[in-house]
Amino acid sequence: MNKTFVDTAAGLGPKSIAGGTEIDRIYAHIFDAIVGHRLQPGTHLKEDELCEIYGIGRTRMRTVLSRLAADHVVELVANRGAFVARPTVEEAREVFRARRLLEGDLIRRAAERRDPAMRVALEDHMVCEREARDAGDVSRVIRRCGRYHQVLADQAESPIMARFVRELIARSSLIIAVYETKAPDSCEIDEHRELSDLVLSGKADEAVALMDRHLRGIEDRLVLDNREAPQSELISSLGTFER
Ligand SMILES: [Zn+2]
Repeated sequence: MNKTFVDTAAGLGPKSIAGGTEIDRIYAHIFDAIVGHRLQPGTHLKEDELCEIYGIGRTRMRTVLSRLAADHVVELVANRGAFVARPTVEEAREVFRARRLLEGDLIRRAAERRDPAMRVALEDHMVCEREARDAGDVSRVIRRCGRYHQVLADQAESPIMARFVRELIARSSLIIAVYETKAPDSCEIDEHRELSDLVLSGKADEAVALMDRHLRGIEDRLVLDNREAPQSELISSLGTFER
């Protein structure tokens, strides 16, 4: 089981890579700075400064920014450029309401399906999540927690709904980073373990109830207010990048 998950917000992996491509690593570096509160929401991600920091050309930098935008971590504004996204309180509440609806339905269907391959997928993921927590890497924990929910959603074999969940999870990563005031943790790993056990033993009603409590718990830990943060200075916020 030598899989390395590409830790984009919504988990585009698993891919068998060691650290990913340069684009993957720059993506993760900027994502980490946003989730780790070093780059504040609303900060202008000036392309020329980023090209200099990462030592790459504009085309490659735009690929990174487009991927961040696809995961709703960055907003691309016509004629102005890229900015760290600033989710509002209303968006945050709506994202969690939608997640409760969709993920409740998907976990029920996964529990009713009970495919033997599910155990492998869920167990593999739990190992990755445990590693990130043991390493104390906050942004990796947020990304892998999101990834757990995606792996679980995929077990329902409902690709259209799972795609909506993917987008919601990506938005949640930024919401958690922006609005969780204590060290962001986002998900209780013991609850992930419990959710997996309920799905694998086919206890659909209990799984749905726990998913609802679990997502409400994450939302309850957020301090939702519409405060404005000052823009960050790119070079000092991003630090150095090991090529
Ligand atoms: Zn969770």
